[in-house]
Amino acid sequence: MNTAVAPSSRLTAADRCDRCGAQAYLRVELQSGGELLFCAHHAREHGDKLKQIAATVVDETDRLTDRNPTTAGSGADGQG
Ligand SMILES: [Zn+2]
Repeated sequence: MNTAVAPSSRLTAADRCDRCGAQAYLRVELQSGGELLFCAHHAREHGDKLKQIAATVVDETDRLTDRNPTTAGSGADGQG
């Protein structure tokens, strides 16, 4: 039996930002063959430059979209 080991394109919690060590949500495969990992913060900060040198960009920053239930509007609560 031959188990094909596919290159995991998904980022995991073990992947860390090369800049700050936070969990990486962006993987950049360089045209030179290297690979860089960035957290969402640094992915945005270096995004433009990375696209120029990247061969492939795996962007999973959308996984971060935490929708905070914004407590919009405060009811008329007569106090005091
Ligand atoms: Zn970072």
